[in-house]
Amino acid sequence: MYTIVSIPGDGIGPEVVAGALDVLNAISKKHGFEIQVEEHPFGGASYDLHGSMLTDETLEACRNCDAVLLGAVGGPKWENLPHAEKPEAALLKIRRELGLFANLRPAKVYDALLDASTLKPDVVKGTDFVVFRELTGGIYFGQPRGYDENRGWNTMVYERHEVERIARIAFEAAQKRGNVKVTSIDKANVLEVSQFWRNIVHEVHKDFPEIELADMYVDNAAMQIVRNPKQFDVIVTSNLFGDILSDISGMITGSLGMLPSASIGTKHALYEPIHGSAPDIAGQNKANPIATIASVAMMFENSFCMPDVATEIYDAIEQALATGVRTADIAKPGEKSISTTGMTAAIVACLQ
Ligand code: NAD
Repeated sequence: MYTIVSIPGDGIGPEVVAGALDVLNAISKKHGFEIQVEEHPFGGASYDLHGSMLTDETLEACRNCDAVLLGAVGGPKWENLPHAEKPEAALLKIRRELGLFANLRPAKVYDALLDASTLKPDVVKGTDFVVFRELTGGIYFGQPRGYDENRGWNTMVYERHEVERIARIAFEAAQKRGNVKVTSIDKANVLEVSQFWRNIVHEVHKDFPEIELADMYVDNAAMQIVRNPKQFDVIVTSNLFGDILSDISGMITGSLGMLPSASIGTKHALYEPIHGSAPDIAGQNKANPIATIASVAMMFENSFCMPDVATEIYDAIEQALATGVRTADIAKPGEKSISTTGMTAAIVACLQ
C-alpha cells in the first residue's frame, strides 16, 4: 500500500489536486493498487486555520508518507506578511526539511498542442526531454552573502557529494529512458565552481559508460533549447542555471497549465505543477488540471517505480487532447473550452 499526503493549498490548488486525485483513484482501481490519501493544510489555507503556513503536523505527515502531492500556495491575501511568514518561505522550508535536492522538470510537447508553443511546430514536434536541476546548493545557499551600500555579494559553491548525487540520478534516469544522452550544463570557461562541477560529472560518468555525456556552456544551452530542443534527452545542471533553463524549456511546450514537476531526495519526494495558485481564475472551475495529473504520472515513475503506469497516464492525457477537448488556457481564440472537471473526466475516460 502507498500513502500519499495531499496538500491542495490555495487558489486553484484544491481544484487541480481534486482532478489529479480522480485520476489517481481511477488508475488504482484499474490495477487494484491500494492507495491511502491523507489531506493536510499548507500555505495560506494553513495560515488561516493555524496561524502558520507549515505546521509541524503537516511536515511530520510529509516525512512519513511515500509521496507528497502539492497543488499551489499563496495569493494576494497573504502577500503582505513579513518575509519569513510568507508562503514562499514555507515552500523553501518543506523542500529543505525533506532534503529534496533534485528538481525534475520534463519538457514534453504533445502533438495535439503543437500550435500552443511560441516556436514553430516543426521545431518543437517530438520534443521530450527532462531537466535535472540541483535544488539545495549553489549560489542560492552559499555563504557569505549580503549587500551594503557599495557592494552586493553571493557565493557559488558546490561540495563533491552535492554534484555526485545529482549527476548519478541524472545518469540513472538516462538509463531508464533507454541509455539516452546526458547534457551537463555549466560555465566552466569562466567559473572555477563550474570546472569542478564538470570534473565530478565526468567522474560519475565512468560508472555509466553506455551513456553519452556532452558538456555545454549555459549561454549556448539557452540558445540551443530554443533553436533545436529535440537534441536534448536529459539535462543536468546547477541550481541557478537550472532555474532559468527549466523555465525556458517549459515554456516552449505551451501553457503553464501543462507542466508537472518532481522534487526528490534520498528519502522523500514531492510532486507539483510548476504553476502558482492563479488567483485570477480560482474557484471558477476553469484551471487546467493536466500539470497536476502529469505530476501523478511522475509519482508513479519516480516514487513507485511503475513507469508503465506513468505512460498510461501520459497516454490518457494525449488521447483526451486528441479528441479536441481544451481548457481555456490551451484553447485557440474563439475555440470552445471545457472546465477543470470536464478535462479531468475526459482523461479518466481515456484511462478506462
Ligand atoms: P500563476 O502561475 O499562479 O499564474 C500565472 C498565469 O497563468 C495566470 O494568468 C493564471 O491564470 C495562469 N495559470 C496558471 N496555472 C494555470 C492553470 N493550471 N490553468 C490555467 N491557467 C493557469 O503565477 P502568478 O500569478 O505569478 O502567482 C500567483 C500566486 O501563486 C502568487 O501568490 C505566487 O506567489 C504563487 N505561486 C506559487 C507557486 C507554488 O505554489 N509552487 C509557484 C508560483 C507562484
